[in-house]
Amino acid sequence: MKSILSIALVAISYFASAQSGDAGQTTTILTNATVIDGTGKPAMPNTAIIIKGDKIVSVTRGKIAVPGGAIQIDMTGKYILPSLIDCHSHVGNLKGTTTTGDNYTPENVRHQLLRFQDYGVSAILSMGTEQSIGVALRDSSLAGKIPGAAFYSALFGFGVKGAMPPESMGMTHVYRPQSAQEAAGMVQQLARYHPQVVKIWVDDFYGQYKKDQVMQPAVYTAIIREAHKHGLRVAAHLYYLSDARRLIDAGIDIIAHSIRDSVIDDALVAKMKKKKITYIPTLSLDDFAYAYEGTPDWLNDPFFQNALEPGVYDMITSASYKEKIGKSSVTAQEKEALPKALANLLKIYQAGIPVALGTDAGASPIRAQGFAEHMEMALMVQAGLTPMQVLQISTHNGAVLLHIDKDKGTLEPGKKADLLILEKDPLQDIRNTRTIYAVWKGGVKVSDGPVSH
Ligand SMILES: [Zn+2]
Repeated sequence: MKSILSIALVAISYFASAQSGDAGQTTTILTNATVIDGTGKPAMPNTAIIIKGDKIVSVTRGKIAVPGGAIQIDMTGKYILPSLIDCHSHVGNLKGTTTTGDNYTPENVRHQLLRFQDYGVSAILSMGTEQSIGVALRDSSLAGKIPGAAFYSALFGFGVKGAMPPESMGMTHVYRPQSAQEAAGMVQQLARYHPQVVKIWVDDFYGQYKKDQVMQPAVYTAIIREAHKHGLRVAAHLYYLSDARRLIDAGIDIIAHSIRDSVIDDALVAKMKKKKITYIPTLSLDDFAYAYEGTPDWLNDPFFQNALEPGVYDMITSASYKEKIGKSSVTAQEKEALPKALANLLKIYQAGIPVALGTDAGASPIRAQGFAEHMEMALMVQAGLTPMQVLQISTHNGAVLLHIDKDKGTLEPGKKADLLILEKDPLQDIRNTRTIYAVWKGGVKVSDGPVSH
C-alpha cells in the first residue's frame, strides 16, 4: 500500500512540475529496468527512472503513470548503473605505441575523454602528468565545454630529478624539487592552478633507480604539509610497504597504487582507517605488465581491441614483444606482486577503509583506456569482493573521493543522470559490465558503447 501511495505521489509531483511550465527541460522516463544505484543497496528490478533536464527526479519500483509529453523508453532486460569514475588515470601522453609529452595536444586529450565515455567512464582523475595546456583543458572539461568524461587532474605532480617518473614516458612537466624548501615553494606555485589533488611519486621503479634516488621523507613531508595548508590532499604513487608506512605517518591522504611487495599488517591497516586514507589499488596495471607474455582471454574481444591505439594490438601479439616480456625482470616482480595486491585489497576493504577505482590507464600503451576500468572491476572481484561492492567502489566511492558525490556517483533524486546501461547482469558476472548498451550523460544518450550492436 505504502509503495503504491509513494508512486502516486511521485506521479502527482511530476505532473505539478510539468504544469508549472519550465519549458525546454525534456522529461524522459526509462521504464522496466533493473537499477543498481551505486549506494550498495540491492538491485531494484522493474524500476523506472524519471529524468528531467540533466537530473534524476525519481527512481521508482513498479508501474508508474507516464505523463503526457514525456519521452518513454522501455528498458526491459537492461541494467542501469551510475557511470564509472576512474580515480587514477592519465590522458594526452599516449598515442599509437608511444607515450611522450609531444603527443599531448587538445585533440588527443579530447579523443581520449570520448574514449573513456564510450566505455561508460564519466569522470577521470588524471594523476599529475599534464602538459601546460592541461590546465585550460581541465577547466574547459569541468565547465562542460568539451565532450566526454569529465577531466579532473592533479595537473603537475612531484617526482625526483633523473628518476621517477621517467621523463621518457612523457612526464616532462613534473616538479622535481631537490630540497624540502624548494618543494614547499613548488606546491605554492601548483596551488594557483587548483589541482584536484597533489600527486607524488615515491618509488624506485622496479629497482631501476637506486634507493637514494627515491623521494626522501623530508621532501614529501614538506609537500604534504604545504598541500594541507592550501586545503589540498596528497596522493602517492608507491609500491613498497616500507614507503607506505612512512607516507602514512607523514600524513598522506590517498594511496594511489597497491602496496604489493608484502602483505600489509593489521596495525598499519588500523592506522590507515584512523587517518581516513583512501586506497586506489590499480590491479590492472600489474596484470597488464605481463599478461601478453601469454594469450589473455580478452585478447580477441572487440571490447578490448576497440580500446587500443593503432599499432598496439600488433605490438602485444608480436613474437618479439612476448620474448621481451618473458625476459623482463618487471614480469617476474609483477607476477609476485599481483597476488599480494589482491590480498591487501581484501584486507583493506574488509577493515572499512574507503577504496576507489583506479587503473593507471593511459600511462602506457598496454594500459588501455576504457577497457582497463572493466578489467580492474573483474580483478577486484578476483580479490574477493562482491560485484555489488565493486560497483559501489567504481561509482559512489570515486565521486566521494573527487568531492562530487552531491551530483554524481549514485542514481538518486537530484543527482545527474549519468548512466551506464548494460545488456547483462553485472551482479551475476562482473565481466557483464562489458555488455554496454548505452552511456548517458546529463540526461542525454552520448554513446552506444565501444562495440556496435
Ligand atoms: Zn599513474
